[in-house]
Amino acid sequence: MRARTGDQTLIREINLSIILNALRDHPPLSRAALAVATGLNKTTVSSLVQQLIDAGFVGETGVGKNITGRPGILLQLNPQAGGIIGAELGVDFISVVLTDFAARVIWRHQERTDRREHQETILRRAMANIQGAVEQARSHSLSILGMALGVPGLVDGESGMLLYAPNLHWENVPLRQMLRTRFNFPVFVDNEASIAAFGETYFGVARGLRNVLYVSAGVGIGGGLVLDGRLYPGGAGFAGEVGHMTLEPDGLLCECGNRGCWETLASQSAVFRRIHEAVAAGEMSSLARFKNGKREHLTIPIVVRAAEDGDLVARRALTDTARYLGIGLANLVNAFNPEMIVFGGILSLAKEYIIPVIQQTISERALRWASRSTQIVIAAYGSDACVMGAVAMVYDEMLRQPLQRAARARVG
Ligand SMILES: [Zn+2]
Repeated sequence: MRARTGDQTLIREINLSIILNALRDHPPLSRAALAVATGLNKTTVSSLVQQLIDAGFVGETGVGKNITGRPGILLQLNPQAGGIIGAELGVDFISVVLTDFAARVIWRHQERTDRREHQETILRRAMANIQGAVEQARSHSLSILGMALGVPGLVDGESGMLLYAPNLHWENVPLRQMLRTRFNFPVFVDNEASIAAFGETYFGVARGLRNVLYVSAGVGIGGGLVLDGRLYPGGAGFAGEVGHMTLEPDGLLCECGNRGCWETLASQSAVFRRIHEAVAAGEMSSLARFKNGKREHLTIPIVVRAAEDGDLVARRALTDTARYLGIGLANLVNAFNPEMIVFGGILSLAKEYIIPVIQQTISERALRWASRSTQIVIAAYGSDACVMGAVAMVYDEMLRQPLQRAARARVG
């Protein structure tokens, strides 16, 4: 008999999830319209909706005409159902957003970090920013439903341990455990590009697409792959480390220990290096003041501004880097034939200069049958793709197991 009760609970949870997802996809809906959209009978829908209203996930928004033309009370997800925290611990920044249950950002904070800082210092700063989000939620009377954190490295999905982040030189940091010790809500930790890939298919530019490659270029290059509608983890959960594919056998030493990795040729540091080399060779540039070991003060927004002001060194550094981005992407187009490549990370700010070159390079180098069906698009959330993907990840968990998750959040 116990197994049967378990089955019924599971079926109820699945049906609740179906209703919530229908309300996420096509709000607002009446009960009658929900029955049509989900294929569930009207009595079941009424009972499930009541449970979701009691749990605070769904609210009534007034009267409107339903699809049969008869007036009905309309339902939508309740933005006040709770808060979600999305966070990214980047190589040189920390970014945190707080959203309501409608995924609207109600607070955000970003600050720069320096990877030469001690690991403890950076983690303390990250914790303080997450605490800031918690306090903001409290002032908006929202209880936190969960948070997800993206990191630039390999993560063990089971334990939420950061195994290796080459550009930070961090190894075996038990991030989820640390966050769970400090905060009383569910915590997810994953690779930043995987999270962003998920977010862009969940409520970004690739919504509804089934085969999507997400590539982010910043200090390094990260990749996330959605295959046949699901985030592809690989055999042990480490798929998507495209930044470390070798493009130049005797190239520059990468932070991972290999030579000639894609990210040594096509990341933010590659842009800065090209500028530095041009200036050292005597070329005129408004960015010359950043030479002599001051390269770390150069940022992509500064380079983009210089390019917009007609600085040829800045423009060439961006377009040369874009050529290498295009070469790597052409290889990936041949391998995966994605419907869409979504491009994010801080280099996406230079889209005007890099996207045409990337498109040109892909069309020259990838097999045309594969590349013809691939479009390349800037991430809907640009350099916020990871934090908004983190929000999507928590959101999806909530919508999949609403009552279990709500119970856990409330215990917290
Ligand atoms: Zn590498």
